[in-house]
Amino acid sequence: MNILVLGSGGREHALAWAILQNPKCDRLICAPGNAGMDQIADCADIDICDGSAVLAFCEEEAIDFVVIGPEAPLAAGVADRLREAGITTFGPSAAAARLEASKAFTKEICAAVNAPTAAYAHFTDADAARAYVQAQGAPIVVKADGLAAGKGVIVAMTLDEALAAIDTMFSGEFGSAGAEVVIEEFMQGEEASFFVLVDGETCLPIGTAQDHKRVGDGDTGPNTGGMGAYSPAPVLTDAIAQAALDDIIRPTMAEMARRGTPYQGVLYAGLMIENGRARLVEYNARFGDPECQVLMIRLGAQALDLMLACAEGRLDQARVNWADDHALTVVMAAQGYPGSYTKGSAIGGLENCPEDSSHMVFHAGTCADGGRVLANGGRVLNVTARGETLAEAQARAYAMVNSIDWPEGFYRRDIGWRAL
Ligand code: ATP
Repeated sequence: MNILVLGSGGREHALAWAILQNPKCDRLICAPGNAGMDQIADCADIDICDGSAVLAFCEEEAIDFVVIGPEAPLAAGVADRLREAGITTFGPSAAAARLEASKAFTKEICAAVNAPTAAYAHFTDADAARAYVQAQGAPIVVKADGLAAGKGVIVAMTLDEALAAIDTMFSGEFGSAGAEVVIEEFMQGEEASFFVLVDGETCLPIGTAQDHKRVGDGDTGPNTGGMGAYSPAPVLTDAIAQAALDDIIRPTMAEMARRGTPYQGVLYAGLMIENGRARLVEYNARFGDPECQVLMIRLGAQALDLMLACAEGRLDQARVNWADDHALTVVMAAQGYPGSYTKGSAIGGLENCPEDSSHMVFHAGTCADGGRVLANGGRVLNVTARGETLAEAQARAYAMVNSIDWPEGFYRRDIGWRAL
């Protein structure tokens, strides 16, 4: 079959790599792709948020199956457009992707089915929000309702911080994303990510992971898109995962179906775990990046079968073939990230890294320049390895990092510390 992957990050390189392990894939195209994807597939420069352009491309190239990586095309309704035209598509409709695109919507769905999550209130008026925060006290969490690329959440440890956050949100800095503000109870605990395929009805867990949001070792410095991840997440025990499925994920998915907007795709539940109990922090309507990289290296070829079963509504017959393994990925980023950084530096030594079912360097922000690979973004490489233990996966990943010659880059040296 001919398969199209939409996106250009490490997540999509990992999806493309896993898809290519499966003999069902005859031809793979990535749009727009990056230097890593360019080495394993054809890349096409199309506007992936323009449903008409994606559909026209699929028709021209006889695409049978589309895998949508990032949230922007989902929120723009690209999956709806493709499915209406009869193209098998992995990724939720715009209506179902509201679980990521609107925090107030997710809170409302949780409330409707009594799913455990932080208590909350939502506001369109700054004075009312201030009065609420003053009554509740700190710590408290202030969130812009819409998509704000991870920057619309302020965990306020003091009342002053919370009031300042409300002013920022209503100042227009977040555009329409900040016109509504959700204020939540602060939850204590350890965070983990739970990934579940949903075909509208059946929910099939495909793995757990933990990422590292802060830029510096020891979880210090500003927040980033993620500096590394590992899977599985030991904090998300089988019992806690089962309870999260029964109490949070299945009821909310049933509520989405009941409302006429069934969810179809991967559901990424961000959970806060405390005293053996999980509460929902957020839903995302896509794989996490870099969590996807560790999930894909663990799932390998079966990832395509599972995504197809999800898109075709056959998850009740699908099974995950679990290996008793661990995976870890280290993000190499351009110096300066998540602040300003320069593009264009050359990355050497990639040819020294093994590429097999236990070792892969997934590319994020890279571009090709003749035979050279250049840095072309903030997060640039995802150096990923699998092992029988997490310690083995970690040692393999850092051995590869050490063989990469990129003086303009940096990375965290402690990925996996929480689990080790
Ligand atoms: P991202 O997509 O980057 O994860 P987001 O903008 O979708 O972020 P959330 O995931 O809702 O926002 O929040 C970002 C982070 O803020 C969470 O990963 C968590 O660390 C923290 N956080 C959010 N809500 C709470 C809460 N109620 N209590 C404690 N911490 C919270």
